[in-house]
Amino acid sequence: MVKKNKFLILRAHHLLCLQGFQGYGYDEPFTKNLSKIHKIFLKSKKLKLIFSNDLICKHCPFSTKANTKCFKKNSNVKYFDLKVIKILSLKPQTILSLSKVLQKVELKRRKLITLCKNCEWKSICLWFIKGTPSNAHSKI
Ligand code: SF4
Repeated sequence: MVKKNKFLILRAHHLLCLQGFQGYGYDEPFTKNLSKIHKIFLKSKKLKLIFSNDLICKHCPFSTKANTKCFKKNSNVKYFDLKVIKILSLKPQTILSLSKVLQKVELKRRKLITLCKNCEWKSICLWFIKGTPSNAHSKI
């Protein structure tokens, strides 16, 4: 995750999930871990986006034991990863400036919101695209 050279390695679509995180998740181990990574994300300056399972997936009930694959039903996570990279015109597998990536998210928010349209968390997580956190759902 954040290694010696200080960059966060993230599955590409988790860039969006982390921005909208308000303390919710699939189960306790997952949410605890996500909360930890969210704190690191908020302090990070650089990141690398990948198309495979990351440390968020590691504690996910939908990850294989070896954390090599996501088996969540009806969820083509790789497609989301590719779309995020494409919409934001980013280079995968390279070290990117987080502030520059977030500027791009800001510019492409309309397109990104369509990508999240079928996500079960959208009512909780998309506040960062709409502008203000949803206090009704906030746990943090
Ligand atoms: S394993 Fe799948 S559902 Fe779980 S965090 Fe990773 S991408 Fe998301």
